[in-house]
Amino acid sequence: MDVVNTVEEVRSCVRKLKNSGKKIAFVPTMGALHEGHLSLIRLARQHADAVVVSIYVNPEQFAPNEDFGSYPRTAEADLEKCRAENTDLVFMPDDRIMYGTGEKYFSIEVRELNKYLDGGSRKGFFQGIALVVNKLFNIVGADVAVFGQKDFQQFRILEEMVKEFNHDIKLIMAPVARAGDGLALSSRNAYLSPEERKTAPLLYAVLQQIVAELRNGPPEPEILLQNKRELLKANGFKNDYLGIFDTEKMQPVEHLVKGRNYLAAAAAYLGKTRLIDNIIFSI
Ligand code: AMP
Repeated sequence: MDVVNTVEEVRSCVRKLKNSGKKIAFVPTMGALHEGHLSLIRLARQHADAVVVSIYVNPEQFAPNEDFGSYPRTAEADLEKCRAENTDLVFMPDDRIMYGTGEKYFSIEVRELNKYLDGGSRKGFFQGIALVVNKLFNIVGADVAVFGQKDFQQFRILEEMVKEFNHDIKLIMAPVARAGDGLALSSRNAYLSPEERKTAPLLYAVLQQIVAELRNGPPEPEILLQNKRELLKANGFKNDYLGIFDTEKMQPVEHLVKGRNYLAAAAAYLGKTRLIDNIIFSI
């Protein structure tokens, strides 16, 4: 496994892999790797001959009040995990490599798909993601890239970015990897106290209840959602959003119709930890 820090080194390694006829899959991450990330690497391997992983905590996608400073950084353990998955190349740039030191003349504006969900609550979040992923795609030049369903809105935004910016890359979505009790794996789960960790699976349980109740009851989610917001609150969660959204436009849905795909999605704080989760479903 090659571990490199510069753009030139990535390009040279990828060129070698491509020259030997290999198809390249790319898995961008912010490190603190867990089984969810590893499931992406395994899926990437199924779609290509060589896998490139990037590990970079992107400052541009954190608001000033967010956890950029305390985000877990576990480089050595991450590299061990990548090695165990037979990753071909790991790109670990620093801020200077990714953003330089000079004045910035350009930015990427995300105009649609970011009004609700994480886009609604985290100002500038998807601009930061679009910027860094755009750069990473240009640096790595992979044939396919794998992202997790856990960040479904991110996937939709990147899908449209790839179309509009004519990136020559195919995006693949990996299912949500979960702990045995249902909690979606996340690097941020490391912030949870033992007590909070016990409560945390309720977020997914509530999403499952919502999907089941929408399949068996009236197709208008609002009252149901109100009740579930109360339930989460009563169990110590501080709600950010809980709703049903259409999977194309990422907008809230008031009346569900049969056969269409919807996203039941939630974000909530337990103490200082922000958890997100979702289920794609139809009624
Ligand atoms: P992150 O390191 O949190 O930026 O995530 C890197 C990639 O891993 C993103 O595409 C995430 O959607 C994906 N990911 C994170 N957690 C999970 C999970 N529990 N299951 C599947 N994919 C995940």
